[in-house]
Amino acid sequence: MNCYDCDREDRTVPATAVCRHCGAAVCTEHAHATTELVTRNAGLGLATLPLPARRITCTTCYDAEHSGNRTTSTAPRPRHRPADLAGDRR
Ligand SMILES: [Zn+2]
Ligand SMILES: [Zn+2]
Repeated sequence: MNCYDCDREDRTVPATAVCRHCGAAVCTEHAHATTELVTRNAGLGLATLPLPARRITCTTCYDAEHSGNRTTSTAPRPRHRPADLAGDRR
C-alpha cells in the first residue's frame, strides 16, 4: 500500500503506518505519532494504566484533532486550562 497523502500530490511512497482515525495509509513523513493513555472499564483494577500507548494519525486527522490548540506540542493537552481565564483580573 502507498501513502494516501503522497498519492494526492502525485508521488508514490510506500506507506509505513495507518491512520487510527480515518484509516488512510501514510508514509513516515505524513504520519504523526502521539501517545494515548489506556483506560480500563471500572472494576478491573487500575482505571488508567501507567504506560501510554502509541497512536498514529495522518496529517489531516492530526491537524483536526489539534485545531483547537494554538501550539504545535504533540503532548495531549488538558481540556480546560484555568490559566486562560486568569488574564482579566479585577
Ligand atoms: Zn506521504
Ligand atoms: Zn486520518
